[in-house]
Amino acid sequence: SDMPDGTSAAEPGELGPAVEGSAVVRLHNIRCDFKLRNGWRRAGTLKALDGVDLEVAPGEAVSIVGESGSGKSTLLRVIAGLIPPTGGTREVTGGTQMVFQDAGSSLTPWLTIGELLRERLLPLKLSRAEQDQRVRDALTKIGLPATVATARPRQLSGGQRQRVALARATIVPPAVLLCDEPTSALDASLAASVLNLIRQLRADLGMAVVFVTHDLAVARLMGDRIVVMTGGHIAETGPADDLVSHPQADYTKTLLAAVP
Ligand code: ADP
Ligand code: MG
Repeated sequence: SDMPDGTSAAEPGELGPAVEGSAVVRLHNIRCDFKLRNGWRRAGTLKALDGVDLEVAPGEAVSIVGESGSGKSTLLRVIAGLIPPTGGTREVTGGTQMVFQDAGSSLTPWLTIGELLRERLLPLKLSRAEQDQRVRDALTKIGLPATVATARPRQLSGGQRQRVALARATIVPPAVLLCDEPTSALDASLAASVLNLIRQLRADLGMAVVFVTHDLAVARLMGDRIVVMTGGHIAETGPADDLVSHPQADYTKTLLAAVP
């Protein structure tokens, strides 16, 4: 890979202030509480995130793996600025885009794919011809024919919709692409092709990718570095190969034992 070495952010101390200063995401002691209710009654507080520190370097590929309820989606939403953390500090530079498990839900049903993509170009104040060219290029990049521009989301398959969601997220390249289990609703071969597309977009655009999954094999494929989450905190983080071959945390060992 000709991308910046993803493992470098794991030990910012060793690399000095230059690398520290260039992180695209820097979270420190992030907490996120949800107030629980039982009808009208307050029924305590759920600590969805409980002291998370995370740095992502430009162009880095980070996988976040953990079981359902461990706080992965909440963490991505905090990075994206969709929910304010209860505590801690958050710095994100250069903008984020997010793709979700259900691509259909993020694509307005009555707009055409061309309109959905052009929408993202509006701030660039391009001519209509330039917009159309960018839309064609974006569709080529995701492996769909230019004729898809006139289709509406429901006319596409689930895999095609997820590709369109990725085109929309990257037609103006973000510094960080946030992926929340984007292939969990797809069958195995479609999932593999979408994972490859994300890897290819990252290589082409030089953006960082934070990829959330409950599947350690997928985490290993998608991340130079893996972050293991459990119960709202980070159990362990390290270069993907080291983490899988020499897990340190007991929780990671349990997770590895569950992989067939
Ligand atoms: P994951 O994505 O790893 O499955 P989530 O981040 O979705 O985990 O959820 C972490 C915990 O926070 C879970 O216990 C979940 O039920 C709870 N949670 C998430 N969002 C909300 C919310 N809006 N209100 C209350 N609880 C929430
Ligand atoms: Mg989730």
